[in-house]
Amino acid sequence: MTNYAPQELENFMSGLRKRNPGELEFHQAVEEVAMSLMPFIIDNPKYMQAQLLERLTEPDRVIIFRVCWQDDQGNIRTNRGYRVQFSNCIGPYKGGLRFHPSVSLSILKFLGFEQIFKNSLTTLPLGGGKGGANFNPKGKSDGEVMRFCQSFMTELSRHIGADIDIPAGDIGVGAREIGFLYGQFKRLNNRHTGAITGKGFNYGGSRMRPEATGYGCVYMMREVLSHAGDDLDRKTCLVSGSGNVAQFCAEKLIQLGAKVLTMSDSSGTIYDPEGINEDKLAWIKDLKNIRRGRIAEYAKQYPLAQFLEGKRPWSIPADLAFPCATQNEIEAPDAKALIANSCHAICEGANMPSTKEAIDLLQAAKIIFVPGKAANAGGVAVSGLEMTQNSMRIHWSAEEVDQRLLGIMQNIHQKCVQYGTEDDYIDYVKGANIAAFSKIADTMLAYGVV
Ligand code: GLU
Repeated sequence: MTNYAPQELENFMSGLRKRNPGELEFHQAVEEVAMSLMPFIIDNPKYMQAQLLERLTEPDRVIIFRVCWQDDQGNIRTNRGYRVQFSNCIGPYKGGLRFHPSVSLSILKFLGFEQIFKNSLTTLPLGGGKGGANFNPKGKSDGEVMRFCQSFMTELSRHIGADIDIPAGDIGVGAREIGFLYGQFKRLNNRHTGAITGKGFNYGGSRMRPEATGYGCVYMMREVLSHAGDDLDRKTCLVSGSGNVAQFCAEKLIQLGAKVLTMSDSSGTIYDPEGINEDKLAWIKDLKNIRRGRIAEYAKQYPLAQFLEGKRPWSIPADLAFPCATQNEIEAPDAKALIANSCHAICEGANMPSTKEAIDLLQAAKIIFVPGKAANAGGVAVSGLEMTQNSMRIHWSAEEVDQRLLGIMQNIHQKCVQYGTEDDYIDYVKGANIAAFSKIADTMLAYGVV
């Protein structure tokens, strides 16, 4: 919301655009951060002189590699694999792998850049990175996915390690893919290490890692509401997506007495005015995780629900919104619909699901808006806890991990309030960016020019 220093911001952004031509998602992610940081940096000349924003927006390194694999028909297929090692300032590179046809360098640079700030907010010693491939696991057999993952890891393996870079899952990389990736890593290195997180519990994974992003997002919303003297009880909620984050976001909302009206996938939205309860959610989990089906089937199973083909959930009246699908799924018209329907607060379960125009509209309307780097940090936070358990060679109970997750989300909320409180509004974007940046900036200064 702070909008002074427009000239400095424009100079910085035009330099960034020139250095990274055509990388629109990366420009978008940097601009959102730079808008809230620029006034703070100008007020702190030591940060300005050290050119911290220029340095922080240049990845430490980008690795791009060929991934060849054989499909079930015996054809040789070629994809492009990436790992963006963005910043290891406060800890080893940490961030997920995304397998999706839309994956590009721009998308991975935006995600890697966001990850630096998100990981800093967790208070754990984690740097930022992201990787993936333009490979689509949808419609592929288990054998094809396995051969792809093995080939991908054969190259990636030489660049990662428990103290170097620790990948995990993201869109298109779930329990099945992590199993194949870790299996190949172990085979190549002949050792078990915490070099990947999101592992199955039997081979070193953490309790609560599958739940962590979605649960953490709801914990954040509960903090937001409680700070405003409110709670989740009977609140109507729009959830988008139906993958890992959306499923556990919906689960925790139901457990805490809220009413989940929607879930979605790229084919459209299901709107269930009665609310998606635990049984219906179990049906969706099975549909998505085991049968790998489309959300449209829900309306056949539960006829009181409607399937809104090709639509997003945002025009349905509700108290709270949880975008948990993918980037740029709340655009300006969606924001206007949320405002018109008096939506009270938004917590982003996905990474950058709202466009800059949408965020500007929502904040101008004084709707509470918690950006993904704060609201969805629970996933990577429990990944950090998985790394700790791997180093200690122990497993914590689900209750213990959940308690730690809750504490981390409460701490992030408190930091956002500390740095983002304005006269009559809490700017969670500004709060999250400044809180995350201060820690990284002071560390960069401590290292000198590196
Ligand atoms: N992909 C998740 C994120 O965007 C989790 C990353 C991790 O666990 O390393 O934060």
